[in-house]
Amino acid sequence: MVTRIAPTPSGFLHAGNRFNFQTTADLAREYAIPLALRIDDVDAARFRSEYVDDIFNTLHELRIDWEIGPRDTADFEAHWSQRKKSAYYRAELALLRGSTLETYACRCSRSIISAVPSGGCPGQCRTAQHELVAHESALRVHVPTDTTISVNGVELNLDSELGDFVIWRRDDLPAYQLVSVVEDRDLGTTHIVRGEDLLASTAAQIFIASSLGADNLVTAHYVHHPLLTDASGAKLSKSRQNGNPSHT
Ligand SMILES: [Zn+2]
Repeated sequence: MVTRIAPTPSGFLHAGNRFNFQTTADLAREYAIPLALRIDDVDAARFRSEYVDDIFNTLHELRIDWEIGPRDTADFEAHWSQRKKSAYYRAELALLRGSTLETYACRCSRSIISAVPSGGCPGQCRTAQHELVAHESALRVHVPTDTTISVNGVELNLDSELGDFVIWRRDDLPAYQLVSVVEDRDLGTTHIVRGEDLLASTAAQIFIASSLGADNLVTAHYVHHPLLTDASGAKLSKSRQNGNPSHT
């Protein structure tokens, strides 16, 4: 059994991230299981090494220790960076495409997709049989209507929550859902702590888990904690030095 802290170095951490770290460390102590640190840096465009420094500084400030994972920024760059594993993730994508799940290339532009609130492909890409071409199309996993996923005994309708979700991005990078499942499979993760905004992501990951040999995610224990908000009630988001908030 193992649990993990899995921050993304796409901005400076905020109180909500620190709350997530502390909650995960408390869970590790409660179950007497090892704690791993995994830094999800696959999104190279938003990566900055000072964000990685900030992760280590924050963990030291909180006096959180971890048994598995990089010890510092240099160790992370030398041995743990996901930015250097794209060939590995591409092989995992081939595994998923060879499974019983249906995937298809989606050529819809960002503006077309953002106009549809429900997510998924608003066009007819599923039946169009497009080729997957870097910087022209993304690959989606088809979620059949009324697909329900059980997360800790709570039934979620994945079709209405997320729709056909992206597994390989238009910018030719693996999507978060693929990376997270592969990394949690390789680590053997059994306990996962996330903000409640990631409940649909958890359901998506359970949906593809068995196709990637990650049955540990089907049976894992999930904790989805409430998100911290600022004084006005808005969700906290990471800050960048240029002042633009990023998604967490
Ligand atoms: Zn499409």
